[in-house]
Amino acid sequence: MSKGYKATWLSGYRCRSYISLFALCSLLFTVSGCSSRPYYKETRLMMGTFVEITCQDKAAINSAFEEIREIEKIANKFEPASEISRLNKNGQVKASEDFIYLIKESKKYYELSGGALDITVSPLVDIWKQKIKEAAEGKKSESLLPNKDEIENKLRLTGSDKILINDAEQLIKFTQAGMSIDLGGIAKGYAVDKAVKRLKAQGINSALVNAGGNLYCLGKKGKRKWRTAIQHPRNPRKLLFYLDLENQAVATSGDYEQYFILNGKRYSHIINPKTGEPVDNGIVSVTIIAPDATTADALSTSVFVLGKEEGMQLVKKLNNVEAKIITNDGISDNR
Ligand code: ADP
Ligand code: MG
Repeated sequence: MSKGYKATWLSGYRCRSYISLFALCSLLFTVSGCSSRPYYKETRLMMGTFVEITCQDKAAINSAFEEIREIEKIANKFEPASEISRLNKNGQVKASEDFIYLIKESKKYYELSGGALDITVSPLVDIWKQKIKEAAEGKKSESLLPNKDEIENKLRLTGSDKILINDAEQLIKFTQAGMSIDLGGIAKGYAVDKAVKRLKAQGINSALVNAGGNLYCLGKKGKRKWRTAIQHPRNPRKLLFYLDLENQAVATSGDYEQYFILNGKRYSHIINPKTGEPVDNGIVSVTIIAPDATTADALSTSVFVLGKEEGMQLVKKLNNVEAKIITNDGISDNR
């Protein structure tokens, strides 16, 4: 049990670029292994974060990055030509296989989490982000926060059951005008899985793919499992625990990478779809270990929203999934 997370590590949204550069990238890092053939590690800025691929074959690393770029092109809601942007703009889109799969997986976790993971919270993510930006610009006042009516209006546009999929025509459609989706809680995990699939197709059996804390450890590094360290969420120089992984994924959702502080209160970038407000349940971070990175990513966001008790109940129902939940009081896991 570790205690004492109350010390302030970073104060506010203005530190975001710092966090992106240093903390986010080093949130999870490998610390083990040696093998006769050298490992190459390449890092690129993609999907709004640092993506790092480590393996013994440089050409394979390149093609794995291409795979991630494909998912970025589909799922980036800030790129006007992406499938997600066209869906958000027109209320329907002719979709690629990957986009349909992402929407289906998101709907699956919407059901499984009782609505905690809901990609249709996008309008709420946007208005809260806008307020974060204004706060970062120094206009700090409580009147900047979305008011009850604004939240109510946006909540009417949410619910992943309002996304229809027509497999025969490869169409995705919203049932209500004004809806939009945000794949920030699941797309990085899926991109990691696609990259790993591409590596495997090229005969690679030892690699690590890490997209901003969403990672997959393929095989072993030399004779040992890949060793990953989870950093203390309030003290970047302290490690909380190590994970030794082989053919497993890890994802962490935390309250410390993207947030803002207004009048001493911390506002998370993860929205509770029931209230339309940033999650405020005492959770500092959730680390999920799962057989694939899509599952780990979707569940880390889901459990973050659900909170410690309900989150643990969900994880206990699933096979081969482990959760480590850090709250202001300490660490809990389902082992
Ligand atoms: P990160 O992307 O920062 O690593 P997460 O995987 O937990 O962290 O995803 C958070 C992102 O997911 C938010 O930035 C937002 O884009 C989106 N999001 C916020 N709340 C929800 C929610 N309840 N369900 C689905 N997606 C959400
Ligand atoms: Mg996630």
